[in-house]
This record gives sequence, structure tokens and C-alpha cells, in this order.
Amino acid sequence: MSNNTAAAVAGLGAAARPLRFAIIGAGMSGILSAIKLDEAGYHDYVVYEKADRLGGTWRENTYPGIACDVPSHLYSYSFEPNPNWSHRYAPGVEIQAYFEAVAERHGIDQCIRFGTEIETADFVDGRWVLVTKMGERDVVDVIIAATGVLHHPNIPELAGLETFAGAAFHSARWDHGAQIDGARVGVIGTGSTAVQIVTALVDRVASITMFQRTPQWIAPQENPEFTPEQITQFHRHPEIIDEMRAEISRGFADRFSNAVVNADSPEMYVIEATCRANLEDNVHDPVLREKLRPDYRAACKRLVVSPDFYQAIQKPNAELVTDAIVTIEPAGVRTADGGLHDLDVLVLATGFRADRFMRPIHVTGRDGVRLDDVWAQRPVAHLSIAVPGFPNLFMLNGPNGPVGNFSLIEVAELQIAYVLALIDEIRMGRCTEISPSATATERFDVERIEAAKKTVWASGCRSWYLDDRGIPAAWPFTFDRFRDEMAAPNLHDYELI
Ligand code: NAP
Repeated sequence: MSNNTAAAVAGLGAAARPLRFAIIGAGMSGILSAIKLDEAGYHDYVVYEKADRLGGTWRENTYPGIACDVPSHLYSYSFEPNPNWSHRYAPGVEIQAYFEAVAERHGIDQCIRFGTEIETADFVDGRWVLVTKMGERDVVDVIIAATGVLHHPNIPELAGLETFAGAAFHSARWDHGAQIDGARVGVIGTGSTAVQIVTALVDRVASITMFQRTPQWIAPQENPEFTPEQITQFHRHPEIIDEMRAEISRGFADRFSNAVVNADSPEMYVIEATCRANLEDNVHDPVLREKLRPDYRAACKRLVVSPDFYQAIQKPNAELVTDAIVTIEPAGVRTADGGLHDLDVLVLATGFRADRFMRPIHVTGRDGVRLDDVWAQRPVAHLSIAVPGFPNLFMLNGPNGPVGNFSLIEVAELQIAYVLALIDEIRMGRCTEISPSATATERFDVERIEAAKKTVWASGCRSWYLDDRGIPAAWPFTFDRFRDEMAAPNLHDYELI
């Protein structure tokens, strides 16, 4: 029995009531939410998933070369270590299989309503009324929005895109019917996705052309395979995985996530020196090297990691185009120098709209307040979890949460424990509605904006971390502070009705 359950059973008062839940999204954090609800003794829930398969990011991103750049033994649930990861950074297909296996082992796959997209959520008489796209209705006490961060593809407005004669698609909508081998492939973008795609395809295609609007710093990162002996050891001694996980987590916090929130930290300069040396040592043609050299600080944009991108882009069939794209024509991409780059396939590795969160679901809170209006300018949330006026609605990986180069699984696990502590207030009969106060939310927002200005993300570049005002929206404090905040809610920051 979990602590939550034990406490709830011990303290069930007259006002305590059974609770019904809707989890929206069957990705990493939706599966986690369902497992943790079960553990806490809440079995009346449905996971709504608009697609026909679970897995979120890992279901949607199936492009060649996809891997996670967080070590897999950290990018796993703490309660579900996986001794079988093939590499330090496992490929996407293994990660997808991992989530499917975990969901099946915990019986969560049986609780998912696939192909069911929530269209509206209205708070009526103290409960949430959900209506799906098909017009079905459900009434629940609590919503957990596990809708993901990078979910809505950013399709650039490129003149003539629809006229392209070959296959053109976003990286998160990979067209597996498109002929890639031996083709002339163009990739627009230079982010983590584009770098993985170019590196994976260069030896398969006739030519690969990378269209760069902004160069990226690249941190070198080897990806060794685990040997059969190591995997046997992981099976025999799971404590090795625990130790490794703790060490990686600590290392990430100290050497990366705590560094980027202090642009002048010594660790930040180490990251920069590493990226600079990677460029200097590995790109031999001085013209290409200068084209690839960013004029902003490393990690200002989300740091790209790759052991072999520089080798890939220097191959004879690879080209880096830095002239701006003017139009897309049936035959290929026309750039500002007048050149036409002939292509058979065009990949838009152009990122995501990172400010959407649970939208386009139309959510209406207390007194008819619409989330679309509250978030019209930009999304806000108290500690990334909840929004004033929207009681009993909690987000995992919501606005202003930690999204640096570290494990979003670790983030979601801390968040769900915090959310369960809030929900316990309802179960214990101490309230029927819980939402953050406007004052606490405003205080957090002011403090986080001040802190954001000191981060390396604010040091002068364009990136998906920045909001409409150019202020970094990501968690701007240390990871230790996040851990502390999530350890237990400060109920003074909440309105309990
Ligand atoms: P991204 O980092 O947002 O990069 C988008 C790229 O598209 C940028 O180079 C951007 O140029 C370019 N672009 C956008 N609109 C354009 C236009 N109209 N014309 C020309 N270029 C345009 O997207 P992403 O690479 O998909 O990565 C998103 C995030 O997903 C990453 O930061 C990371 O958090 C995650 N991710 C992780 C992994 C991993 O674990 N290894 C892999 C993939 C993705 P500008 O830079 O000039 O804006």
C-alpha cells in the first residue's frame, strides 16, 4: 500500500468520496499517471488517447536516426528499470517498445480509450464534463493532462511548399512510403531532429542537403553499445542500474541543468569549450567550419548532441546550404542566391509549437473562464502544474517546467507525486475543489521571469524555449529546487473549497 493510500484509508472522513479521473494522453506521463493512480488506490480512471497506439513522442517520431539524448537508464521509470537497453542512448524503437511493455505489465493498456480525442472540458457543478470529438460524454472529478510538450508540428510558411513534386513531410510525420535509398533528400532545420536525420541518411542517399537558417553548437557524445556481459550483470544485479541512474542524474544536474540556469557558471564555460573544440577539431574545411559556427553561446538553444554529425556533413554527397529559402518549387528548393536545389524528398525538421500544451482542447473552468482566453498571450501555470480558476485539473510537463537536456520522466515522476498529494486533500474530505491561488501563481511567475533572465537561454538566440516576449519559458531554477518544490505542495499557495 502506498503512503497516499495508507493515509487516505486511515483518515477517510465523512466527506471523503470516491474519485473518478480522466488522464488525457497515453504517452510517457499518461502511462505514469495511470500506474501511480492505481498504486494510490484510485482505480476509476480512463486514459483518453486520440491516436491508435500509446507512446506519445515515441509513437509520433519514427524518423531515421531517432534516439533519446538522455541516457536510457535515466530515461526509464524509476520503478521499471530496463536491463536490456542496447545502447547508452537507445534508439526510438526500443523506447516505444519499453513504454508498450510497461503499460501492458501494469494493465494500463486495458484502460486506454484509443482513437478518442477530447474536444472540450467544462467545469460544471464541481466536476469536469468531457466531450470527445465523437460526441461522447464523461464526467470526472479530476483531470490529469498528460498531453506532452513537443507535440504540435511547426509547419513553416514556405511559399510554394504545396507545389513540391516529391514527398514532403514533417519529421514527426515521417512518410515511410517515401523512397529514401538513393534519393536526393533535403532537410530543413538544424535542431536535434535534423542532425539525427542527416547523420542517419547520409550513407543511404544519393545526396543530402541541409538547409540551415541558424547554425547549432554540437556537443560530442559517444553512444556505446552495452555488451552481453554488461546486460547479464544488469539482470543479476539491478542495484547497478540504480547506482548508474543516480550517478547520471546527479551528473546531469551538476554539469548541465544547474549550469544553463546560470549563464556565468564555470560549468557553462566547460560546455562551451567542449562544443568549440568539437567544431575546431572535427570540421576540416575552414569555409564549412565558419558556416557551422554559431554566433551565440552554446546551450542558448537546446544543445544538440551527436558523436558523428560533423563527419556526416563533410561527406562528398552532403551539402550545407546557408542561403535563405525563397520558395519551394516542384523540382526542389530555390534559395536567395538564385540556385535551385533539386530534390526527390523534402523533410521539414522544423520543430514544434511548444506553447500549445493541452490545447486545442477547449477548457472552461470555474465561472465560465476559458483557458483559451487565460492563455491567449502565453500559457501560465503555478509551478507548471495547475492554473488558477481551473480546479482539480493538473498538468504533467506543463508550462514553465524543466525541459533542458534531461529526463522528462524524472520530471513527471516528481510532478505526479506532487499532484497526488494535492488530490489527497480532496479524497480526505478537506476540500472538493483545489486550485492554485492567483497570488501564488503571479508570485511564481514574477520570480521565474527574473530568474529566466540569468539563464543561458536568454543570452541572445532564437529558440523554442522563448515565449512571445523573448523570455525563456522553461524552468529557470536549479533541478534541486524543482525537486524541493515537488517534495510536498505548499497548501498556502492553493485555494481549497
Ligand atoms: P528545433 O530544435 O525547434 O529546430 C527546428 C529547426 O527548424 C531550427 O533549425 C529552425 O531554425 C528551423 N526552422 C524552423 N522554421 C524554419 C523556416 N521557416 N525556415 C528555415 N528553417 C526553419 O526542432 P527539433 O530539431 O525537432 O527539436 C525540438 C526538440 O525536440 C529538441 O530541442 C529536443 O528537446 C527534442 N528532441 C530531442 C531529441 C533527442 O533526444 N535526441 C531528438 C529530437 C528532438 P532556427 O534555428 O533558425 O529557428
